[in-house]
Order: sequence, then C-alpha cells, then structure tokens
Amino acid sequence: MSDHILSIAIPRPLEGPFTYAVPDDLVDRVHVGGVVKVPFGRVVTHGYVIGEVESASKLKEGLSLSKLKKIISVELEENRIPKDVLELSQWASRYYFEPLGEVLNCAVPASAIGLKNKKKTSREIEILNNPPQLKDLSSEQSKSIEDINQEFLLNKPVLLHGVTGSGKTEVYLHLATKAMAEGKSVLILAPEIALTPQLHQRLEDGLGTTVALWHSALTDAKRRDYWLAMRKGKIKVLVGARSAVFAPLQNLGLIVVDEEHDSSYKQEGRMRYHARDLSLVRAKVSNCNVLLGSATPSLETLEKVKQGRFGFASLPNRISGSNLPKIEIVDLLEEQCRDGLQAQITEKTITAIRDTIEKGQQVMIFLNRRGYAAFLLCEECGAVQECPNCSVSLTVHKKNHTLRCHYCDYKQTLSQYCTQCSGGRLKSVGAGTESIETELPRHIKNMIPIRLDRDQVTSASRLSEVLEDFRCGKFNTLVGTQMLVKGHDFSKVTLVVVILADSLFRWPEYRSSEKALQVLTQVAGRAGRGKIPGKVLIQTYAKDHPVIQVMTGEMSEEDFLNQERSLREALNYPPFARFARLRIEGRKQDQVKSFASKCVLSLNKRIKESSHSVEVLGPSEAFIEKVKSIYRWDALIKAKDIKVLQEVIFSAKSFPLPQGVSLIVDIDPVGVGY
Ligand code: ADP
Ligand code: ZN
Repeated sequence: MSDHILSIAIPRPLEGPFTYAVPDDLVDRVHVGGVVKVPFGRVVTHGYVIGEVESASKLKEGLSLSKLKKIISVELEENRIPKDVLELSQWASRYYFEPLGEVLNCAVPASAIGLKNKKKTSREIEILNNPPQLKDLSSEQSKSIEDINQEFLLNKPVLLHGVTGSGKTEVYLHLATKAMAEGKSVLILAPEIALTPQLHQRLEDGLGTTVALWHSALTDAKRRDYWLAMRKGKIKVLVGARSAVFAPLQNLGLIVVDEEHDSSYKQEGRMRYHARDLSLVRAKVSNCNVLLGSATPSLETLEKVKQGRFGFASLPNRISGSNLPKIEIVDLLEEQCRDGLQAQITEKTITAIRDTIEKGQQVMIFLNRRGYAAFLLCEECGAVQECPNCSVSLTVHKKNHTLRCHYCDYKQTLSQYCTQCSGGRLKSVGAGTESIETELPRHIKNMIPIRLDRDQVTSASRLSEVLEDFRCGKFNTLVGTQMLVKGHDFSKVTLVVVILADSLFRWPEYRSSEKALQVLTQVAGRAGRGKIPGKVLIQTYAKDHPVIQVMTGEMSEEDFLNQERSLREALNYPPFARFARLRIEGRKQDQVKSFASKCVLSLNKRIKESSHSVEVLGPSEAFIEKVKSIYRWDALIKAKDIKVLQEVIFSAKSFPLPQGVSLIVDIDPVGVGY
C-alpha cells in the first residue's frame, strides 16, 4: 500500500486533473513536468505530472486512497517539460477552456517524450558555428532598434510597424544576435513557415548558428531531435509556426512574432488558440522580451499601443531606396474584358502582362481560389453540383476531370450531363487559378506560367522546386492563391496582378475589410523589390470601397483604421469587447438546432438574473452549416469583461449534452469560423 498521491493531466476532452496513487518504488522518480503511464477507464494511457508528489493525508475529501488507481510506470524522468512551458499550458487551459492534458498533448510532441518512435534513439543535432552575417543597419533601422530596446527596458511588448521590404527581418536578426550574445535563446514565430524556406536560410546565415525549423510537416524523428536539443539548451534559435510558442527553449531572451496580424496564428479545430496572444503570455512566464512585427498591424495590437500597454517603433520606408510599387485600379465595370477566358481579365491587364514579359521581367497573378471554376451550373434546370457531405458547391477541376469539395476532399468525375435533369448544358461559373494557368498563355505570347496553390504544392520539396523554378527564370509568371502572398522576395517581379479584389472583402465578418487590406498590402509588396520599380494592377468592381481607396492612397491608412476603430467601438466589437463562439455540432440537424436554441434560451435567462452586461447572439447556422456530414450551429457571446464572458461559458458548459452533440468553445474567434 502506497501513501503518496499525484495530480495527473490526461490527454482526453475531460476536465481534470486526476489523482493517482504512487507506488513507493516510483515516488523518487516522478517530478513535475514528467510523463507517466496510467490506467484510465479500461485502457492504459500516458499522463502529465502537474504537481509534486504529496502525502495521502492531502487527499481531497470524498476520495479514498484504497480506491485510487496507481500509476504504472514513469516514462519521462529527464528532459521533462520545462516549468515555463507548463505554466503557459496551464494559462492556455484556463483561458481557452481546454483540459490541461489536451493542451499539453498539443504543446509537447509525442515523439519527444518517448511516446512515438521509441525504438530509434535520438540523433544529436550538429550545431553550426559560423560568423554571423549581419548587414550594416540603415539609420532608420538603427533608430527603430534604439526605440525597441528602450521599450524593452520598461518590460513592454513592442510593435514594429514597417512597410513591406523595409528591413524588418534584418532588425530581428540584430536583436536576436544581441540576445544570443547575452547567452539567451530566441524564438521566432512566422505564419506558414513551411511556405517560406527562404526565411529559415536567411536566419541561419544571418545568425551563424543552427536554427530549428518547426512546422506541422516535420517528421516525428526530427521533431524529437529538435525538442531535445532545445530542451538541453544546445539549439538556441527556433523559427516556427504557431505551435512553436510552446518550444522548450532554455533561458529565452526574445520572442519575435513576424506578421503578427496574420490569421494563421489562430489554430482552429482541436485546441483553439491564438499563438500571437500566447506569445505575450509566454514572454511573461519566461521573463523575456517580445516584438510583434507587421506591415499591416492588427487593430487589436494598435489599440494596445494607443493605450500605452505596448511600445512602438516604425520603419516607414523601403530599404535600398526602392519605392513602394505604383498601384493602379482596373475597374471591371468599365473596362473591356477579353473573351474566351474563364476569369474576368481586362484588355488593359493583358497588355500590362504582355509588356512586362516582353521586357524579360516577371509577373505574379493572385486569385483567391484554386481549381478551374467555383462551381458547375446546369443551364437547363438551374441545379448546382453540391458536395454530399458538406453544404458547399463542388469546385471544378478541369485538369484531372473532377468536381471536388475543398472542405472534405470528396471527388467525383466531371460528367457532361447534369446529375439532376441529365441536361447537357453545364456551365462553369467563377474562376480559379487553374483557369488562368491554362488559358491565359493562349492570349499572351511567351507567357510561361507556373501555379502555386495547394493542388500543385503537396510537399515542402515540391514548394521549393516551384519557387526555385520561378526564381531562376524557367517560368516568367507565377499564378497563385494566398500561398504566394507570404514574404517571398523575387527581385525580377515588377508586375503584380490581383484578379478580383472583391473576393477578399465580401465576407460576412467584421474583420473582413481589415483583413482584405492586409492581404492586398502583402500581395502588392511582392512587386518591385529589386532595382526596377514595380507596378500593381488591382481588378475590382468596387473602386470606391475603403480598402481600395487606401491601396491607391486616396484614403490614408490612418483614416481607414480610425474609421474601422470607430465602427467597432460603436458596435462593441473587439478590441472594445470580447467575443466567444459557442459551436454546437452533431450529425442530426434537428437535434443540433434544438439544443442550440435551448442553450441560448437558458443562458439568456441566467444573464437576466445576474444583471451582467453581456449578450448572447444567435443561435444561427454556421457560415458553412454542414462539413463532413456534421451540422454546426453557432451562438456568439459578447461581453466587455473577460471574467463575465468566462462565467457565461461556464454556464453553457454545465448543460448536459444530448448523446451525439458536442459543444466547442472558441475564445476570441477569428473569421467566420471553420
Ligand atoms: P521586410 O522583412 O521588412 O520585408 P527585409 O528585412 O526582408 O524586409 O528587407 C528587404 C530587403 O532589403 C532584403 O533583401 C534585405 O536583405 C535588404 N536589407 C535589409 N536591411 C538592409 C541593410 N541594412 N542594408 C542592406 N540591405 C538590407
Ligand atoms: Zn465536402
């Protein structure tokens, strides 16, 4: 009989922690941050040790020692989860309403703690030791570094607002070098790092040391090797996507969040969190500095600067004296479009592309949809081919003769007849990147396009290939989706074309204008990064839209942001209030709907009684009601005070769920919610 007990977090969607008895022979081997094997229900699972071993006298009332299950074995004794990472996970667990075991399961790779890949022993990572290759700073850069360091002394997070190509990355390198010289380590978060292999190389060359590269496509073995090397303090720099915020870097001195506004920092699905927001918490628990960088900072971050909670530094000009590209609007209501193309492309745009190619320069064409066309319409009965599992229409992919669902990957052969009426007049509506790649070269002599989107790029090596082929000039036109927006630096690109800007700001979501401006600024920023000045053509039906007016300079960015800010203030939207989305899911539509209604009704009743200022909106079907045969209904909670918001969520979580229905809490939701 043992007389010691232990608190364990279990990676299951159940509130914890769970108390276990510790056999005497294991007492000395369990420590906070370690991993143990435990019986759980009818299975054996791993669990995370989150408290010190305690005497059984501390057992909570109602529990009896003889009934406690015993831990089976100790899996991780050395290289335990570091204290600050554990503390961050605990914070995330409370804030995002996720059981701690689930958070730790996301934060700590299974392979690193000996749960996967057990047989092969880990490999030592060789650490580069080259002289750093830093550029001499421009006076603007030096000034910004002074400003940043000044604010760091006050223990404030700092926003670095710098236009595209202003040399932000170089500033990161200088700050990182300084931190490393003080013996500290550095964490750099970058959105979709897998898409920007250049950045990793640049950091490694610049700092002269090995930089771990952390993203979802990493192999288990590599993940384990990196984790251990960081844990032991061998690797001192890491660049990674959102989950890197949990990296076990020792003695952290600096966190950089590049493109802090980017919505890919928000993790959806299981364990919903925002890596930028967590980076601020990490900075606190690890006692280090944090720098947020962006050409188009988020309103939330700007608001914190305004309130004096964040420091501020700026780089208003491009380095190398090259100017920001010239922006021209192409009015789709006025201009003549070329016949015989699926996409609406004006004569003016075609001429500009042709001229650029004739001069031996390169073009980037941006369109926010992959595939050939948005959907297939029967001109006889009006039916649109839809996904059987999701409430969306199927996208036309002509190249491999399929109709495809972009949500569940459902595929069917592209038939010549309507599945409803067997009519033969099927029309492709809307346009995707594939249509431009295949059709435009017929209209522009010497155009050699390559496509960059998720259909084309299925692996990191394929991505490098595409980027390299474009860089070396084997192709002169890069046609792509959001993927081509990210930080690429091609000096020969002098023309960037946006096929349909409207698709960016026509979303039923309060952030859609802000987001559209961010994407357009990023896309435009790809033009004219070399010596030759660049030009951007933005095709749109809405030339008077504020986002377009900011792009052309008719409205200042400041006015636009102030306008957005006032709007949000008036409507009580973030950053002036907090949101949480309650999502109710299940296979039976009726059941989901009725539980959602009941839930909102009871919440409203409780709120009335409590006199708190909080609103519950909805329920309504999710933006896409059915995905993978699961129906989803949403309610939105809106409150000034996070505590009040949390109370309402606690209430919602206390309602017993009908069999087959689940409730997902999304704090600070972003976008329409996948
Ligand atoms: P951003 O991250 O703001 O887009 P980068 O740091 O990528 O900007 O800089 C843009 C370009 O300018 C890069 O090619 C970079 O090598 C170059 N650059 C940055 N700082 C300097 C500097 N101080 N001297 C010379 N070139 C620089
Ligand atoms: Zn589907």
